[in-house]
Amino acid sequence: MRRSAGFFLLALLLTLAPAAWAPHAASAVTEGAAHPESSTVEPVAAAGAPPLVLVSIDGFRWDYLERHPAPNLRRLAADGVEARALVPVFPSKTFPNHYTIVTGLHPDRHGIVDNTMADPELGRFSLGNRGAIADGRWWGGEPIWVSVERQGLRAATCFWPGSEAEIGGIRPTYWMEYDGRLAGEERVRIVLDWLDLPAERRPALSTLYWSDVDSAAHDTGTASPETAAAIERVDRWMGLLLAGLEERGLYGRVNLLVVSDHGMADTPAEKMVVLEDFVELDGVEITGGTPVVFLRPPAARVEEIRRALSGAHPALRVMRREETPRRWRFRDHPRIPPLIVAVDEGWNLRAERTDAGDAAPRRPPLGMHGYDPRLPSMHGFLVAHGPGFAAKARVGRISNLHLYELMCHLLGIEPAENEGRLRAVRGLLARTPRPG
Ligand code: AMP
Ligand code: ZN
Ligand code: ZN
Repeated sequence: MRRSAGFFLLALLLTLAPAAWAPHAASAVTEGAAHPESSTVEPVAAAGAPPLVLVSIDGFRWDYLERHPAPNLRRLAADGVEARALVPVFPSKTFPNHYTIVTGLHPDRHGIVDNTMADPELGRFSLGNRGAIADGRWWGGEPIWVSVERQGLRAATCFWPGSEAEIGGIRPTYWMEYDGRLAGEERVRIVLDWLDLPAERRPALSTLYWSDVDSAAHDTGTASPETAAAIERVDRWMGLLLAGLEERGLYGRVNLLVVSDHGMADTPAEKMVVLEDFVELDGVEITGGTPVVFLRPPAARVEEIRRALSGAHPALRVMRREETPRRWRFRDHPRIPPLIVAVDEGWNLRAERTDAGDAAPRRPPLGMHGYDPRLPSMHGFLVAHGPGFAAKARVGRISNLHLYELMCHLLGIEPAENEGRLRAVRGLLARTPRPG
């Protein structure tokens, strides 16, 4: 369903209308957990399309579903559609990929080039830097929740990278400050509460995020009992979501899109490369993080450092940014520094020789991602179910670049400019999509 020019005019008029049109705070919904307000446009019509719930299970590798029982995810895959794999963008890290999923842009266009990065004007960005995370100037492109809100519908985020920032002046109607300790079950309850809202306040798009599987595999490797337990736990939360939808008669009436941002490779502790074993890095700005480190040396030292690191270790690759593989699309953004240093799959990379200053030296992670998106170990998964999706179907590998177009299509909204193509994911769609 495409909206008419008249619709946009009406939405614009309502934006400019007196405060009586301002959205109501939905404080009762999440008992203060969510930030209400901040949508500038009152939904003028309930969404014709079914609500879309976008779920991310961080670091859920494409083959986990085959290797682990996960009955609830399996049921969803059996009833709905499953992709062979979901291919991430480079670097296969959390923030760049979550933001590609919601914008349809590569990191060189949306600007989130790593979890840790530096901008010539804005300074440094990292996952622990709340000020940066909430600063819209870092976040380029138009994320799906902004598209949703701009077109008169509501969006709600129980966590998603970028959702805490005002982007183009807009935040989701309901959003939450990231709290990694918020219980998985509680996140499900929040999303179900949103679906219980009366139509005019109900979000057309909700997001839900869990980090447990990624964290467990970083700490203990992909084949550990801890990672298996994390998969079981997350699957149990999926079960709560499915049961909640069923209780409401919504299973099959809501479009549920479950994805991950990347996969995971095992990294034995002894596979560690330390850059300062080969070159002195005083005065060099270091960003990125294992297994891909970015170096911004003073201009006069770029070539010297490149040479010192070239061939220094069999698992080490050093590239000027213009030498990175074209398919990475990782050359043209001010936040991409002159030198990109990467290690081969299964290795970790650290810039400094010691963890000086840490009371106890950190153990190297036993699982890692960030490597070349072409590696199967870096591939994530996708399972979807609902009226807009194919039923009992399986499709091949797809790139996460196309999901923004897919979601706009399911929601009946006009996508902003992006690099995805709906045609590339048409196998995921129901043969005869219900009229939005
Ligand atoms: P990575 O370092 O790429 O493995 O990132 C995974 C971590 O990102 C998770 O363990 C979370 O701690 C963190 N994270 C995920 N989403 C957010 C968010 N919206 N805000 C802040 N941190 C986040
Ligand atoms: Zn991740
Ligand atoms: Zn991770």
